[in-house]
Amino acid sequence: MIDQIFLKELRAACPALMVQTDVPMSRYTTLRVGGPADCMAEPSDVEELKAALELARRCDVPVTVVGNGSNLLVRDGGIRGLVIRFGRAFSCSATEGETITAQGGILLSDLAQQALKAGLTGLEFASGIPGTLGGAVVMNAGAYGGEIAQVIESAEVLSSGQILALDRETLGLSYRHSRMQDTGELVLSARFRLQKDDTAAIRARMEDLRVRRQDKQPLNLPSAGSFFKRPVGAYAAQLIDEAGLKGCRVGGAMVSEKHAGFLVNAGGATAADFLALMRQVQETVYKNSGFRLEPEVRIIGEEA
Ligand SMILES: Cc1cc2nc3c(=O)[nH]c(=O)nc-3n(C[C@H](O)[C@H](O)[C@H](O)COP(=O)(O)OP(=O)(O)OC[C@H]3O[C@@H](n4cnc5c(N)ncnc54)[C@H](O)[C@@H]3O)c2cc1C
Repeated sequence: MIDQIFLKELRAACPALMVQTDVPMSRYTTLRVGGPADCMAEPSDVEELKAALELARRCDVPVTVVGNGSNLLVRDGGIRGLVIRFGRAFSCSATEGETITAQGGILLSDLAQQALKAGLTGLEFASGIPGTLGGAVVMNAGAYGGEIAQVIESAEVLSSGQILALDRETLGLSYRHSRMQDTGELVLSARFRLQKDDTAAIRARMEDLRVRRQDKQPLNLPSAGSFFKRPVGAYAAQLIDEAGLKGCRVGGAMVSEKHAGFLVNAGGATAADFLALMRQVQETVYKNSGFRLEPEVRIIGEEA
């Protein structure tokens, strides 16, 4: 239950802010699991965001930031305090020459389409990743040889109430990691440096990647993409497949038959099912190959 005094003050301080209470996180994660968030707010500008965060700090209300929830496993007990969701209301973008600057809530697919329309290459890899810009920068998302680190020039982050402009080096981007995972800073916007190219060629590359995803990935079932990070010297999906785990189930959570790196919601799964399956996969793969798989998915929230 959210502190009612906090809620009243939040609504008074930010009358236009979209605020909901007792929100099932299963609606806001692509795994379609997760208990309720006490309170969720979707800011539409930086001033609203800053005001909500300052009030949460003063009232001692914990804050969790989410984007499109495509790399999140929220436990069944849900999330206490305030969830800040970056979404449609925070997704302006602008193209200038060979750069695109966009806010943290824009979907990567929309960003990639914008680059395509402007005849700019570099974001094709991102067109099929179902996350927001903010989540992608925090995760240094990547696919098919491309990743955020290759195209980002700088980002604006909110750090203890201050807006900081960080260049690419300062963002500390490495495989599925960024400085923001350690600091908890919020990604407000980012600027990407791209290159001019033929629109038809860019479209063809995007289409090729779409077909490759369609062929290899279980896109018909809820998932969070590759559940585990790629261990050094091996591929998680191959290790899981070699351990005989394709199709392995705990409750409604299942190792995909199509792509062993994906844990999918085959129907009615809980977060506890996914956590139990994750541990089973980790133990079996370790016994079979000696590799320790670490989740790429960010696990948050409380046990039921
Ligand atoms: C079908 C499918 C395919 C996928 N394919 C890929 C792929 O090819 N490559 C890849 O890298 N990933 C892939 N993913 C995973 C996921 O889409 C990416 O990690 C994506 O970048 C996450 O973005 P999001 O907005 O959904 O972030 P969320 O899942 O909402 O959050 C992820 C993390 O980022 C933080 N966060 C989110 N927004 C902000 C912000 N504005 N400021 C600060 N912190 C923030 C959250 O607190 C959390 O720690 C796939 C997922 C699915 C479901």
